[in-house]
Amino acid sequence: MVKILVTDPLHEEAIKILEEIGEVEIATGLSKEELLEKIKDVDVLVVRSGTKVTRDVIEKAEKLKVIGRAGVGVDNIDVDAATEKGIIVVNAPDASSISVAELTMGLMLAAARNIPQATASLKRGEWNRKRFKGIELYGKTLGVIGLGRIGQQVVKRAKAFGMNIIGYDPYIPKEVAERLGVELVDDINELCRRSDVITLHVPLTPKTKHIIGKEQIALMKKNAIIVNCARGGLIDEKTLYEALKNKKIRAAALDVFEEEPPKNNPLLTLDNVIGTPHQGASTEEAQKAAGTIVAEQIKKILRG
Ligand code: NAD
Repeated sequence: MVKILVTDPLHEEAIKILEEIGEVEIATGLSKEELLEKIKDVDVLVVRSGTKVTRDVIEKAEKLKVIGRAGVGVDNIDVDAATEKGIIVVNAPDASSISVAELTMGLMLAAARNIPQATASLKRGEWNRKRFKGIELYGKTLGVIGLGRIGQQVVKRAKAFGMNIIGYDPYIPKEVAERLGVELVDDINELCRRSDVITLHVPLTPKTKHIIGKEQIALMKKNAIIVNCARGGLIDEKTLYEALKNKKIRAAALDVFEEEPPKNNPLLTLDNVIGTPHQGASTEEAQKAAGTIVAEQIKKILRG
């Protein structure tokens, strides 16, 4: 009997598919020690972003054949360690693109119009119409860093808002940018200098860590808004904090943080920072798609 261990919350439709393959154990919130113990005799491990599948976990696994990541980023899985042991890692890269793009637009609008701050004020019984005066997105320049699946969905939506779009992605063909109606720039600094709103949609790698650092933040417009629905480590948070505190840029809207959950992150004390707790893929549709796509792949692999 195939043993399947699920260590993060998974959509019920996905569980149903897994139950067709073997015996499913759902054990969320495991400590590292508990995971090291449980992993020994399972054939399949299914996670989302919560479980850290590190090298020591993989080395303890005696029967593991497949690791399923119900989502996009596999940065919580040591893929090299898995590959060395012949363990296949599967994910669902397309499942959440629209959900993340929609949250990006939501955060962009919320930051431009101070929606969370105004809501909180209204609920405190205040009626402060001047304090929350915002800016329009219409006619503004949006700088999109990373024009992959999510970046492209953001472009389509931002076009409908009448934004001019420039993009930085050295790896996509010029024709893709042309088809999208995006002006490609060769240099991230140029994008930072010219954009009114900047949004990040690149993976976190050693190359992209702090891709938005001191130099880039110093180049941004005084009214710039930065949105990050990709990974926290892409932005140098200390420099971002200083810039926002000293009103060198207008606002930041963040779904992701260098440390999650954030512990005493000073960014969260600022009035011009709004955010969500890594909610990009947290929709009914994306969770269902991520879970079922991964479960179907596991089924295919095991049934050969
Ligand atoms: P993707 O692979 O389709 O696109 C990434 C793009 O980034 C590619 O076009 C690639 O060429 C480009 N890129 C890579 N390195 C670059 C660099 N140094 N400079 C500029 N561009 C570079 O990925 P995607 O599906 O669009 O997802 C993007 C990221 O969003 C993921 O890596 C993940 O970290 C994040 N994400 C977040 C959530 C969330 O819950 N907030 C959910 C899903 C994905």
